[in-house]
Amino acid sequence: MKTISGRIEVIAVSACLLGIASTYRGDNNLSLHTIEKIKGKIVFPVCPEAMGGLPTPRIPSEIQNDGITVLAKDKTDVTAFFQRGASIALDIAVLNGCHKAIMKENSPSCGSGYVYDGTFSGKLIKGKGYACRIFQKSGIDVENEK
Ligand code: SF4
Repeated sequence: MKTISGRIEVIAVSACLLGIASTYRGDNNLSLHTIEKIKGKIVFPVCPEAMGGLPTPRIPSEIQNDGITVLAKDKTDVTAFFQRGASIALDIAVLNGCHKAIMKENSPSCGSGYVYDGTFSGKLIKGKGYACRIFQKSGIDVENEK
């Protein structure tokens, strides 16, 4: 794989998996498995929701059943923040030569297999988060932290 260093793999990683306090709760999702997997690689942390302009902590949000609209739990439409953040995260990944990303499963931004169903009842359904979708469309291989 061609990388900016010529040898070392360059990878984008959900910031919360690296221990950065970027979640809606204001904490992190530190994944020791992810830390192990990125050893020896050049890592670019990305948090699409923070990059899109949402505060930390923030009201949790879920993709609605149209697959496009993202509403916060208080019913505020935050779709534009998610779109903007996904786009900025993608720019960072592409400009730095990332061909792969490890992203937090179940997130409305970073999820790659499952997301919450939009009812804020804790139910997961098959689906992808905003950032995951555009990463994959751009040819970046996305895997989750598991
Ligand atoms: Fe983590 Fe992604 Fe949520 Fe940011 S948007 S806190 S990186 S899961």
